[in-house]
Parts: sequence; structure tokens; C-alpha cells
Amino acid sequence: MPVLTRRFEKIRNILNSRMTDLTVVLEDIEKPHNISAIIRSCDAVGVLEAHSIGKEGKSLQTFNSTAQGSQKWVKIKSHKTINSAIKELKIKGFKIYGTVLGDKSCDYRDCDFTGPTAFVLGAEKWGLNKETIALMDQSIFIPMRGMVQSLNVSVATAILLFEALRQREKLGLVPTDGEGIEEKVYKDTIFEWTYPDVAKWCKKKGIDYPSINNKGEIIDNLPRTEKLRC
Ligand code: SAM
Repeated sequence: MPVLTRRFEKIRNILNSRMTDLTVVLEDIEKPHNISAIIRSCDAVGVLEAHSIGKEGKSLQTFNSTAQGSQKWVKIKSHKTINSAIKELKIKGFKIYGTVLGDKSCDYRDCDFTGPTAFVLGAEKWGLNKETIALMDQSIFIPMRGMVQSLNVSVATAILLFEALRQREKLGLVPTDGEGIEEKVYKDTIFEWTYPDVAKWCKKKGIDYPSINNKGEIIDNLPRTEKLRC
């Protein structure tokens, strides 16, 4: 069955408005429902790719009921160490904001998140490691007025991401036509989102994804078994 035009339009519109310069880095966040809620917020705001510090390359555990399928729409890049993740993001020009509940941190409402921004979120029990805090460009916090000292990590992530989106919307900086997404990443992502099963098959075979036309139809030849998955 060819992909429905309306669905393909929706997929294209969502991808066109994804931001490559807004992301989160998850350090040692363990609870699947928190990871799922964070990914769901990333999808809602329009983050193209999030980062996690993987335990020996293990993929993140998510809860589908919390994520509501959003894990299909947000790429998660796993890094061996926080140092390598931060180094990579700094080379790409990201300003790294560590979330730290302390005197030296800045109120997030006083920060400018309109440039390339990465929020680093810490473990449910301990927060960010000391060594990680030392790598940050800026420590930030969300002021608290209650008896409990901190927010749930997924709530803190949502507040920060939506603040970044608010600032960018105000200045008309949110992409509408895939601005900032490299051509190959755009082509691969739209294929993976439109034909996830064929994409898996191509990856297994180690071959490039077939080309698709403007209507989302596959224009290259595929084996009959794979055509049936479309
Ligand atoms: N005792 C830990 C601490 O001092 O960081 C609490 C960890 S908190 C439950 C887990 C994560 O949520 C934090 O590492 C941070 O990323 C985020 N977080 C929670 N409350 C926050 C706040 N008010 N401002 C910024 N980030 C917050």
C-alpha cells in the first residue's frame, strides 16, 4: 500500500520544523517513564536529535504508554562518555547548559536560548556528576517555591525546552522548511519515518534507502517481499 498523501504531508511538515540546534543530553537518567516523557517533550517542541550517555551502548529503555510513540520521531544518539558527548556538541557550536540546583546557577528566565542550545539533565537521585558540571558553559536552574527541593527531571526538561521554543518563536527563528537539516539526514529521516520497516531491512542489508518522490512514493525497484511492507 502506498503511503497516504495526507500522512506524508504531515511527516514532511513535522520534519521541516525540526530544530537541529536545540537538544538535550541525558546523563544517567534511569527510569524509563522519565526518559519517555523527556522524548515526548522533545517531539512536542521539535527537537530533531537528543543525546544520552549509554551504558555500554545499550539503547534507552522507554515506556510506550508514556512516550506515546514519540520515540519513533526523535533520534537518540548514544555516547560512551559525557566528555565525548559534550566535546561533539561544543565543536558543533552548542552552548552547554547544565541543570544545577545551586548558588552559582542562573535563573533560566535570564538566559538566551536562541542560539545552538544543549540542556544537560542529571540522574533522578543525584543530579549531574561534579565532573560533568565542570564541563558546562553555564549552570542554570528553575526557581522552586515549594517544600521539595527539585522537580521531576522530565518536568524540568519540558520547562526548559518550551522556554527555548518561546524565545525562538518570538524572534521567528523556528524552521519551517527543513532549515539546518543536512540533505542526507533529511532524506534518510523522511524515509525512516515514512517506511520504517523497509528502512530496517535496508539497514540490515547495509544498503542505501531507495529514493522517494514528492508524494512519498518509492521510485526505485524493491524486491517483492519489501514492496509488500510499503
Ligand atoms: N538532588 C538532586 C540535585 O541536587 O540535583 C536532584 C536531582 S533532580 C530530581 C533530577 C534532575 O532534574 C536534575 O539533575 C536536573 O537535571 C533536573 N531538575 C530538577 N529540578 C530542577 C530545577 N529546579 N532546575 C533545573 N533542573 C532541575
